[in-house]
Amino acid sequence: MTNGTVYLIGSGPGGLGMMAIRAREVLDTADVILYDQLPGAEVIASLPKTAECIDVGKYGSDHTMTQDEIEALMVAYAKKGLRVVRLKGGDSFLFGRGGEEMETMREHGIPVEVVPGITSAIAVPECVGIPVTHRKWASQVTILTGHEDPTKEVSALNWKWLAQSPGTLVVLMGVKNLAKITGALVAGGMDPEKPVAIIERGLRPDQRVTCAPLAEIAEVAVRVGVEAPAVIVIGEVATLYRDGSEGKMHICGI
Ligand code: SAH
Repeated sequence: MTNGTVYLIGSGPGGLGMMAIRAREVLDTADVILYDQLPGAEVIASLPKTAECIDVGKYGSDHTMTQDEIEALMVAYAKKGLRVVRLKGGDSFLFGRGGEEMETMREHGIPVEVVPGITSAIAVPECVGIPVTHRKWASQVTILTGHEDPTKEVSALNWKWLAQSPGTLVVLMGVKNLAKITGALVAGGMDPEKPVAIIERGLRPDQRVTCAPLAEIAEVAVRVGVEAPAVIVIGEVATLYRDGSEGKMHICGI
């Protein structure tokens, strides 16, 4: 039997309107859809009844299925000749493990089509008025995972280098380690007054933005109860945040 195709789809940062038209086409003709919660309720509710939809529920550290198990499932369905979708929030390659899934499918001779998604790293700040690059303030943007504990002996990230790099830092998955991250940046020489904005549940009805200087943001975040999923923007561009009404920077919890 010929192997079916695996489609790696990023649904964008929130709501059906942020999804590529190609993603919709593929979803509507899929046989199997493996999804997790990051695409959000609206996208999940729109999944076609004609497909077998499986919640592989991998969210934060609360894994219900391991990455290996998910990949094994994708391979098994594709080997039955089915059209298999792996659906994720944002873009499926950016901190989404889509790249690993593509490699595994290649190893098994399974054809892969990738449908890019709008990543939360850029779109979530953008939708609250924060451009991650800016001619005056940021000619560089660095997107990093905050999942790595900066106090670990061996880190995949060079915090000193990050602290001294110009432009904007965008941290995904950084809520849990926020105090360690901001501590490492200040210790590495970043200005403690550097503006930071945290956008929780971006583009969702209960979105919230919390802003404070680098040296204070971790304490403020604890005080107001900041939770994942959230995008953390560190850099002058964070001051461009507007809450949509006042036209001035809005500081939650202060
Ligand atoms: N591949 C995704 C990122 C997956 S990592 C993308 O391209 O967007 C998961 C992290 O993404 C979360 O911990 C959070 O930091 C961020 N994230 C994703 N969607 C978000 C949203 N709607 N609001 C805020 N943060 C979001």
